[in-house]
Parts: sequence; structure tokens; C-alpha cells
Amino acid sequence: MTETRKRVLLAKPRGYCAGVDRAVQTVEEALKLYGAPIYVRKQIVHNKHVVSTLEARGAIFVEENEEVPEGSTVIFSAHGVAPEVYEQAKQRSLKAIDATCPLVTKVHHEARRFASEDYDILLIGHEGHEEVIGTAGEAPAHIQLVDGPDGVDKVTVRDPNKVVWLSQTTLSVDETMETVARLKTRLPLLQSPPSDDICYATQNRQHVVKEIAPECDVVLVVGSRNSSNSVRLVEVALDGGARAGHLIDYASEIQEEWLEGATTVGVTSGASVPEDLVTQVLDHLAERGFADVTEVTTAEERLTFSLPQELKRDMKAAAAARNA
Ligand code: SF4
Repeated sequence: MTETRKRVLLAKPRGYCAGVDRAVQTVEEALKLYGAPIYVRKQIVHNKHVVSTLEARGAIFVEENEEVPEGSTVIFSAHGVAPEVYEQAKQRSLKAIDATCPLVTKVHHEARRFASEDYDILLIGHEGHEEVIGTAGEAPAHIQLVDGPDGVDKVTVRDPNKVVWLSQTTLSVDETMETVARLKTRLPLLQSPPSDDICYATQNRQHVVKEIAPECDVVLVVGSRNSSNSVRLVEVALDGGARAGHLIDYASEIQEEWLEGATTVGVTSGASVPEDLVTQVLDHLAERGFADVTEVTTAEERLTFSLPQELKRDMKAAAAARNA
């Protein structure tokens, strides 16, 4: 009797995107430059492991500016903040460093521009997500949230000729298009954003998962429960034909019964997940007979973002002082 070969299909791209890389580096460099503690408003990126690693190095994560002692340094997370958060920081004399991903900032600019032209803006996103709160805060009087296709019926607009949709950067591409299609049946003149709001990293990670899903008995997505793009990857895997899909923070969460009878396991990770957590999952699988790993690549990513200006300026000044 021949034994069926067990294998892993490893998705690429996976893991860190340019915005997460920049945000994590911002905290690391700030700790080096100013010393601990450094305050960070909200989780810098939505990953348990990243947050606990930075905490161990001296970062203190808070929910609001008022928890930060006056005059301290505070970093705003990759998900972006509403203008009032900058204002509060100023009032408390905080030194604010903005680690908002530039692709989220782009959506903030779009929101401001359409609001200044008096559009009604339909922001497709998940209620309560930090990114959505930050974007909506740019123009609360003009923005209403549409939380998926089921939110469409609640939408009311002042002028159906002057409506645009924008979106959170980490949504499911397919579900967003379904929401837009439903919106367009009610609002045929609805305008689209000038460029994709769902970011390149979200789209690329979903695309490769769609490719591997039909061949997988189970897809393991490394990522945290509060990570929107990671949660979406499990949904995309299931919609794409995987027989099962699970979100895990660590390899130790893999349950033996998930692998029973499986021959092909798909592995990927969300945009806020460091690669060593994926390596631990691959090691765990190899110990259970899944040592044959094929990487399936659907895109190469080369985008990088430079560190926030305010931090770069201080790093430059510190370097000049050292060399003086
Ligand atoms: S997932 Fe996209 S929007 Fe979010 S930090 Fe990464 S690149 Fe930026």
C-alpha cells in the first residue's frame, strides 16, 4: 500500500507588509533613541507576539492619550488616528510620532477632499475597527459606515448624484465588491475611490490564498484575532475551497485533529506577523510528517516606507551630536 504524500503549500506573499514593518521599526528606533518607556497609543500593529516583544523592550501600550504622562513621547499606531487625537496630544504637550501607514493616510486624504467638496462618503469597513474610527474622524458629518453588504439598506444620502465610497484597507476584496454592487443598485451614480483603498498587501495575501485553497485540506493562517486582514484570510481560504481554515497566534495552538486525514496543509500569515512564527508552524508540521514544503508565489513585493519625518529628524540630530 502506498502512503499518500503529506505536503505543505506555503503562500507568498505572506507576513509583514511595508506599513507594519515601518510601524514596528518606529517603536524600536524610538526606544533606542529616547530610551524606555515609550508610550504607544493602541496596539502598534494587531499582533499579540509583536506587542508583547515590544513591551518587553520598554514600550507601554495605552488606549488613550490621557494615560500618557504630560510631556512624554507617544507613538500613534499603523491604523491611523482622527485629527482630534493629534489635538489632545498637543494639549498634553506630548511629543507625537505618527506611525500611521501611508496607505491609510492616503484614505484620510481622500476623505478630507471629498468632504471639502461636500460629498456624502460611504466608508465600507468594520464597525469599531481603529482604522475606521480614524478615517471617519476626518469628516464625521460627511461619512457613514457601511459594514458589509448587509449594511447597504440602512444608507441614506442627501444627494444621490454626489456620493462616493471609500474603504478600510484590510477588507476582503470580494466582499467589498459585493457591497459596492449592492450600493450601486440603490445609488447608480455612486463614485469609486480614485485608486484602490484595499491595500496591495491585503490584495496580494488574499490572491495567493485563493490560488492554494482548492488544493488544501486545511489552511492555517498565522495571525491574531483582532487583525482584520488575518481574519479575512481564513474566510478567503474557506470561500476558495479549503476544507477547513484556522487562525492561530502560535504553532502550539494547532490541534492534532485538524491534521487527521489531511494530506495538503496551506500555510500563510497576516500582514502583521513576523516570519519566525511561520517558521515555528512549519517546524511543528514537519514533526508530524508534513516536511515537504512548496512555496507558491503569486507576487513579489518590494515596497518600503521611510520612517516618520519627526523620528528621522531626531535620529539625524542625534547622529550629528555624536559626530560633533
Ligand atoms: S495592511 Fe496595508 S494598509 Fe495596513 S499597514 Fe500594511 S500596507 Fe499599510
